[in-house]
Amino acid sequence: MGKVAIVTGGSRGIGAAISKALKAAGHTVVATYAGNDEKANAFKDDTGIPVYKWDVSSFEACCEGIAKVEAEHGPVEILVNNAGITKDAMFHKMTPEHWQAVIGTNLSGLFNMTRPVWEGMRERNFGRIINISSINGQKGQAGQANYSAAKAGDLGFTKALALEGAKKGITVNAICPGYINTDMMATISDDVMQKHILPQIPVGRLGEADEIARCVVFLASDDAGFITGSTLSANGGQYMD
Ligand code: NDP
Repeated sequence: MGKVAIVTGGSRGIGAAISKALKAAGHTVVATYAGNDEKANAFKDDTGIPVYKWDVSSFEACCEGIAKVEAEHGPVEILVNNAGITKDAMFHKMTPEHWQAVIGTNLSGLFNMTRPVWEGMRERNFGRIINISSINGQKGQAGQANYSAAKAGDLGFTKALALEGAKKGITVNAICPGYINTDMMATISDDVMQKHILPQIPVGRLGEADEIARCVVFLASDDAGFITGSTLSANGGQYMD
């Protein structure tokens, strides 16, 4: 049976693929975004999926936004914490602003979004939380101390919350994508792609956003009820944890 799902950062990139795949699987989906109205409105017109704008790094904004979504669509049963940013710099050049921005969105965003839906999920004895972490949270990445710390933190959050949710029918899982073919990758030159990126990926290609979306659809399904606290790596064999 279709459920109410929120996908943060669900209007672009991997999140857009997740939103569309959950809708195709029969769920009622809403997508959130931070500020790119043009992309979000185009996504809404294209898919019929409603979009809501708020900043996941603000707890108050998340409480208000989720209350509005629940009033309009019903209680949230599936939450996909996908919104994420990068502010890369080698550590000797990293500023407190670089650090706080990435921790605020990529790590605190998970607390801010999950806390307001958690009590309702406990009361209803059902919930699916899916956190989009990253290969770089597993293995570390030069120039990404902030991002790697936040994404590794997402995995600890996933495991601790999985233990708390287990008796209440709530599963909490993480997905760690490797290099995915999004707008971000399109800015990389062909030379860098051929010489430096593709040789690191045993399957010899980038992943597609739809391939991450299919992982989410599975983890959100009733079939995945015995899977909780897990980390699903989707990285073409680049890193095996
Ligand atoms: P994009 O940059 O394409 O999209 C990011 C989305 O998140 C946008 O919808 C954006 O909104 C939203 N967003 C960003 N910050 C906030 C915020 N503070 N509050 C609310 N929404 C916000 O990202 P990708 O699709 O590339 O990445 C999606 C997730 O996957 C991220 O968590 C990323 O770290 C992770 N990931 C990506 C990989 C890749 O190769 N692309 C690899 C591994 C992990 P707006 O459109 O308004 O800016």
